Amino acid sequence: MSYTYEAYDVVVVGAGHAGCEAALACARLSLNTLIVTISMDSIALMPCNPNIGGTSKGHLVREIDALGGEMGKNIDKTYIQSKMLNISKGPAVHSLRAQADKQDYSRTMRKILENTPNLTLKQAEVAEIIVEEGKIKAIKTFSGGIYPCKAVVLCTGTYLNARCVYGDVSNYTGPNGLQAATHLTDSLKAIGIEMYRFKTGTPARIDKRSIDFSKMEEQFGDEELIPFSFTNTADKIKKEQVSCWLTYTNEKTHDIIRANIDRSPLYSGNIKGTGPRYCPSIEDKVVKFADKDRHQVFIEPEGNYTNEMYVGGMSSSLPEDVQHQMYRSVAGLENAKIVRNAYAIEYDCINPMQLKPTLEFKKIEGLFSGGQFNGSSGYEEAAAQGLMAGVNAAMKLLGKEQVVLNRSEAYIGVLIDDLVTKETHEPYRMMTSRAEYRLLLRQDNADLRLTKIGYQIGLISEERYQRVLTKEKQIEEEITRLNSTLIGANQEVQALLEECNSNSLKTGTTLGELIRRPELSYELIKSIDKNRKPLTKDVIEQVNINIKYEGYIQRQLKQVEQFKKLEGKVIPKDLDYTKVPSLRIEAKQKLVQIKPISVGQASRISGVSPADISVLLIYLEQYKRKASNE
Ligand SMILES: Cc1cc2nc3c(=O)[nH]c(=O)nc-3n(C[C@H](O)[C@H](O)[C@H](O)COP(=O)(O)OP(=O)(O)OC[C@H]3O[C@@H](n4cnc5c(N)ncnc54)[C@H](O)[C@@H]3O)c2cc1C
Repeated sequence: MSYTYEAYDVVVVGAGHAGCEAALACARLSLNTLIVTISMDSIALMPCNPNIGGTSKGHLVREIDALGGEMGKNIDKTYIQSKMLNISKGPAVHSLRAQADKQDYSRTMRKILENTPNLTLKQAEVAEIIVEEGKIKAIKTFSGGIYPCKAVVLCTGTYLNARCVYGDVSNYTGPNGLQAATHLTDSLKAIGIEMYRFKTGTPARIDKRSIDFSKMEEQFGDEELIPFSFTNTADKIKKEQVSCWLTYTNEKTHDIIRANIDRSPLYSGNIKGTGPRYCPSIEDKVVKFADKDRHQVFIEPEGNYTNEMYVGGMSSSLPEDVQHQMYRSVAGLENAKIVRNAYAIEYDCINPMQLKPTLEFKKIEGLFSGGQFNGSSGYEEAAAQGLMAGVNAAMKLLGKEQVVLNRSEAYIGVLIDDLVTKETHEPYRMMTSRAEYRLLLRQDNADLRLTKIGYQIGLISEERYQRVLTKEKQIEEEITRLNSTLIGANQEVQALLEECNSNSLKTGTTLGELIRRPELSYELIKSIDKNRKPLTKDVIEQVNINIKYEGYIQRQLKQVEQFKKLEGKVIPKDLDYTKVPSLRIEAKQKLVQIKPISVGQASRISGVSPADISVLLIYLEQYKRKASNE
């Protein structure tokens, strides 16, 4: 039995971190949008770690915010602890991380969705994607509802044919015992989509009342708060913070695991899916890093509403009895009461090389996708892709230019380019080391890099856009002023330099030159800078960084110029690689499969050598000349 409803412009499948961003983007760009999800009670659910952000992931959240996405605002409302990580290192790796009240996070995002114009919510399982002549026509739910539409954004996360594994038992449910999606994979295979089977895992949750915190190191949030969203100020989001706790595994823990490793589904073969290398289970850590006598364990509150504590660093799928011994061997957890067992989850996702950099499927027009479904791992990676997939579905329907962020503009650009260009056979997790231009792609300047693009897309207001233009101008003017303000080697200056353990001046210099000294900063030279006007903290931060790291920044900008040269060499859609003489077979096969949009993207495909790129460049010149003569 089926029933056809009224048509929508866009249907988003799944209200996880990706689906929420995709649906909000489409609805805010005035498209009639429907979001269909298995359960209205698990919108923006955090089935694993109770935090948003962290190294490189904090960068993604700030970029989502600068483009007009929701995640940054949502965590600023629902965080219970906030911390800037890596502050002892350079600004490129400074990363904000906030512990979230999980239920509050989900409830708050649901409220946003339910009060967004042009957005309709439906609880149902999407079982089929209806395609005609290579174009999206509609979706069909398991209960028979047919929703005609012009575009679909698939954001099914870890639910497709999900299987949760606890030692030698398993059941076909989604995370936290939620219903799995057991029909859609077959429909996707039927329309020619190549699927992968991935896995990830989560640790146990322990009752706070059974933990001895006196045996752990308390981890506090920062007193000086920095919001994720550029629309917020520290005062606006200030609230009382909770603590996290640090403890460690020990030899006893490792012995318990080693003694039962044959019962681990990872090693018994009961788990087939491929797991994330950079988010290993405790079993994997003990086996692969056998020389380590302890591993860090972070005890993190799941929220203010519950006593459940997340045991970060000990995700596992070992049998229940082993889990009980293993967790109770950790200092402070001797009497631990496990509220939820640790488990691993296998699920279906796609080979993302089937996607264009716009996150549209190459084979099916109007079908887009984002999130864990694309082979990534993490709330932040999911939200970033959901936003871009939603934006590009909207741009397509509005007849506007699609948006592809390149690797020199954003971590989001690195994330998507890596997924659609480089083969990944495990869940892809973002890391700062993946971003070759990371000194330019800092979390502190995401607004300066991307707000304009968010404004051009239509997700950023005029007022916010103007605010960023003003900030940009203030930064430029202040840097120019500091670099052109001369000061003499007078007594006052020398006294300040001595106070700051900085070498005295032999002759006059500029304020900019002083700030470049590692031991000095914009703040420290305040007393000798007579014409200084009051500026906001975020402007001062930019002034400091741009003056102090000017040399490195200039060098990276030069590298970006080189990068853009190849990125700018667009490859015609109809180029027939089989006709390119002296191109190696492997390169031909890869180029035909991936259909890169530029020579730059082609150069990043594994199996395409620099020699192949030279051949391609020559052939493209001839191709262009021939085309212009015709
Ligand atoms: C057990 C577990 C452990 C994890 N461990 C880690 C980790 O260690 N590190 C890490 O970075 N990330 C981890 N994650 C991943 C993290 O949760 C995801 O990255 C993130 O939630 C992905 O967001 P998403 O929007 O892509 O999908 P999800 O958050 O999974 O949301 C998908 C949504 O789609 C809905 N849906 C699915 N199929 C259908 C359908 N056919 N019809 C209608 N609705 C549908 C679901 O109900 C759900 O609401 C873990 C996840 C789980 C479950």
